[in-house]
Amino acid sequence: MFDVVVIGSGPAGYVAAIKAAQLGLKTLCIEESTDNNGKANLGGTCLNVGCIPSKALLDSSHRYYEANNNLSEHGIEINKLELDLNSMMKRKDNIVNKLTSGISGLFLANKVESMNGRGRVLSANIVEVTKVDGSTEEIETKNVIIATGSKPIEIPSAVFGKHVVDSTGALSFSKVPKTLGVVGAGIIGLELGSVWSRLGSKVTVIEALDDFLPMADKDISKESFKEFKNQGLDIQLSSKVTKSIENKDSVSVTYLSNGKEINKKFEKLIVAVGRTPNSSEVISEELHIPIKNGFIEVNDHCQTKVSNIWAIGDVVRGPMLAHKGSEEGIMVAERIAEKHAQVNYDLVPSVVYSHPEIAWVGQNEEELKSKKLIIRLENFLLLLAEELLLLINL
Ligand code: FAD
Repeated sequence: MFDVVVIGSGPAGYVAAIKAAQLGLKTLCIEESTDNNGKANLGGTCLNVGCIPSKALLDSSHRYYEANNNLSEHGIEINKLELDLNSMMKRKDNIVNKLTSGISGLFLANKVESMNGRGRVLSANIVEVTKVDGSTEEIETKNVIIATGSKPIEIPSAVFGKHVVDSTGALSFSKVPKTLGVVGAGIIGLELGSVWSRLGSKVTVIEALDDFLPMADKDISKESFKEFKNQGLDIQLSSKVTKSIENKDSVSVTYLSNGKEINKKFEKLIVAVGRTPNSSEVISEELHIPIKNGFIEVNDHCQTKVSNIWAIGDVVRGPMLAHKGSEEGIMVAERIAEKHAQVNYDLVPSVVYSHPEIAWVGQNEEELKSKKLIIRLENFLLLLAEELLLLINL
């Protein structure tokens, strides 16, 4: 019998598993995805098709853009600059492989057992694993942590196909599309749009909302909107995709922009309108654990209605961010080991890895104002500066 069975090996699941094992709990981590050699593909969305490959490409594309546009003012002239996309993609894949195999090493070092297959919670103490060959095994455990993550949302007006892709497809184009449409100006859409724009695509971002980056402070979203435009991203706000048709070498997209119908052709279209939790069929209905809009319902400590079944990461409420899931994983492992732990959800940082980077923590100015919690930061900074000057002059 295990003390803890974790379903899913993304940043929520693998961190929870390692922490639980470090606290002396006998731990198993189940992962359904397999690599080319038929072994469990650890690391989840973040390491395989999310944070890590996107940041690798953001880094490479930034260097290319700098070399192409911003070096001559430094007196550095490059006669013939060439893009070798194949090598860029290989570097990204190597980084991903290094990090995902690093997790196997961490599991070994910390004595976390791992199993390849699809996990399903049958009862409070039994997890069923369906293996790749179709056989099943029932595993007994004192606690279950569900960390099954999320997947990209597909919209009826832009169904995934040859030229209409999700974020995963956008991380492995074999050539730079001359024209690229991005549906959604969220963090993922802006980052992927930036990558391909820096590499030479003419990028149009189509966003249904009227406001740009509404989760950031207004001043910041206003400035960053200008900066993205300067960098070549044509961002169309208040615009909703109504239809898309795949052609042989392109996709024709229709969208309504402030009531006006616009038709555009793109070589590729990335749909980045959000992600939906992987919660269907993970828990037996007999357990009656509530699931709302796909999210497994948990309390502040990530505990479901059944006290020894926990859920963490993208599959539960809160921002879909790797570090938020990892923090929840640590909290749950510690609580299972009867230690006091909690996550401060008011202090989860968010970052857009654009250039310059945009980051914020907690609530924005508008939210604080609406709660009458705003403090005059500029007054406080002025006072601080005066005090510092006084100290220097002493
Ligand atoms: P996941 O990482 O999705 O992992 C879930 C795992 O569970 C998967 O491996 C899946 O195969 C497995 N699984 C699912 N169902 C079962 C089952 N029944 N049995 C067994 N295994 C199962 N976040 C950041 O914080 N910073 C970033 O810079 C960032 N960039 C991103 C860029 C992109 C392009 C994308 C798509 C996402 C990005 N994110 C980023 C979000 C981040 O990837 C997720 O928030 C994070 O991966 C969620 O972790 P998780 O462990 O909850 O789920």
